[in-house]
Amino acid sequence: MTCPLCSSSACRENYRMNKRRFFLCPACGLIFVPAEDHLSPEEELLRYALHDNTPGHEGYNRYFAELMQVIIDRGPAGAILDFGSGRSAVLTGLLNYRGYSCTAYDPLYGIGIDAVDATYDRVILSEVIEHVRDLPGEITLLGKVTRPSGEIVMRTKIYPSVEDFAGWWYKNDTTHVNFFSHGAMEILAGRLGRIAEMTAPDIFVLAPP
Ligand SMILES: [Zn+2]
Repeated sequence: MTCPLCSSSACRENYRMNKRRFFLCPACGLIFVPAEDHLSPEEELLRYALHDNTPGHEGYNRYFAELMQVIIDRGPAGAILDFGSGRSAVLTGLLNYRGYSCTAYDPLYGIGIDAVDATYDRVILSEVIEHVRDLPGEITLLGKVTRPSGEIVMRTKIYPSVEDFAGWWYKNDTTHVNFFSHGAMEILAGRLGRIAEMTAPDIFVLAPP
């Protein structure tokens, strides 16, 4: 099995749950569910419909407060892309309310399909990278939409350790297919010509060196 992050062919099955297999890449540390075991697009949309991601949901807005603070702390941003915004594009709404210029993009819901024809100073993926089916394709797209001086803000949970993976709740979400270690996050940053800086346990800023 080939690693979708570093192309190593030495990946081996590390864990299995209800026929869903999880492979570990010994080269970069990524744990991933192979394409054969992904949900169908229909099943995936159905699963998302069960999430309460509406803008009025108090807990959800609170959830974004920490990410908003990271973005504010990075200083003024020009054009921002909310990559994988979700149906309600809550983060886009919050940022635009704060005076930022943010565009939503989510092909799953037909949102901002043309948005990826432009380039951005800051590209934000809030719990998106763990969902993407085509990791190499999305990395290429991220490289294309981020300006050379631009930053990528990546929010995803880092798995505790290979030994503790079996007991980790985050893997139980059947729409999650990519799981990062700190090392894997650094490899991802490197593939984008950037360095990963951790600003919260689950928030990384991928910035030019
Ligand atoms: Zn790898």
